[in-house]
Amino acid sequence: MTSIATLGSHCALQVLKGAKDEGFKTILVCEKKREKLYRRFKFIDEFVLVDSFKEIMDQRCANILKENNAVIIPHGTLIAQMSSEEIESIKTPIFGNKWILRWESDRNMKEKLMVESKLKIPRSIRGPSDIQGLTIAKRHGAAGGKGYFLATNEEDYIKKRDKLVREGIIKGDQDLYLQEYALGVSAYLQYFYSELSGELEFFGVDRRYESDIDGLGRIPAQEQIDVDLIPSFNVVGNSPLVLRESLLEDVYAMGERFVEAAKRLVAPGMTGPFCLEGVYDENAKFTTFEFSARIVAGTNLYVDGSPYSSLIYDEPMSMGRRIAREIKNADSKNSLSKIVT
Ligand code: ATP
Repeated sequence: MTSIATLGSHCALQVLKGAKDEGFKTILVCEKKREKLYRRFKFIDEFVLVDSFKEIMDQRCANILKENNAVIIPHGTLIAQMSSEEIESIKTPIFGNKWILRWESDRNMKEKLMVESKLKIPRSIRGPSDIQGLTIAKRHGAAGGKGYFLATNEEDYIKKRDKLVREGIIKGDQDLYLQEYALGVSAYLQYFYSELSGELEFFGVDRRYESDIDGLGRIPAQEQIDVDLIPSFNVVGNSPLVLRESLLEDVYAMGERFVEAAKRLVAPGMTGPFCLEGVYDENAKFTTFEFSARIVAGTNLYVDGSPYSSLIYDEPMSMGRRIAREIKNADSKNSLSKIVT
């Protein structure tokens, strides 16, 4: 019997609750410092305690996971804490396509996949001297918006970069990627692509609440100017959103183009959950500034299903549960190898 494992962070509770609801044994690879928190949740059957998540590559963890026929569900913490090489070297089967995670972490590969998907993306800016309009400086990998900042010209950029270097958050220009700032209403579009049925399911939308950029609106303009603050985009939580129904056609079309492009560029393609992240402009056109090629934490909102998953399923279907359902369906057809790497 297959069991489902994940790292204790990000969306572990939702993933393992969903796995339990689908009848799986659940395993949490848990840092010792967080054991007390996760012991509160009775749907977690087994704990593999570690000092660092990197131990998931060690023989001890691999043996426990193997004995349990475990499939690991990858999420943002795996990507944030391990390099692409480390993730690819994990011996335990990983749900979805572990090779595509490299395309999420590497800015150039990421841009290539978005271009191939014919998504509208913000212009990337070659270097500080090319900054003309409002520009966002972003760190590589899944930094969750921490240490990101806005700049309007080179001088402004240098001042802010140097402050972050002094604070030890970045080392220098090499840690930053510059992109045109896309103005509009942010939306994080959550999808699930089933390799087994060949169908794309739109699962929900969320918005992020980011500190301290989202708190700034509460301070009057004069005080904003007076405080010497470099607002960051550190994600603190997520809130729900529903879209105008007329936008859904384009939402599906973007998701389908992404799935097709991923099939062409990175075999076996985009299996399972993914997210297109961007903003709607004044003409309700979507600009995608990022994608996540795995479950995003914004799906934690919908443990009991979302306004969109309820239109597809007659039972509460979280993203975590949808993943477990896919594994169950594959198991019953002896085709688990189709959906893990
Ligand atoms: P994660 O992997 O958790 O998605 P990340 O480190 O890849 O995080 P991004 O999603 O790229 O971070 O960006 C963090 C935040 O910065 C976004 O939620 C958004 O608010 C803002 N942001 C990023 N790029 C742009 C852009 N081009 N225009 C406007 N806002 C942006």
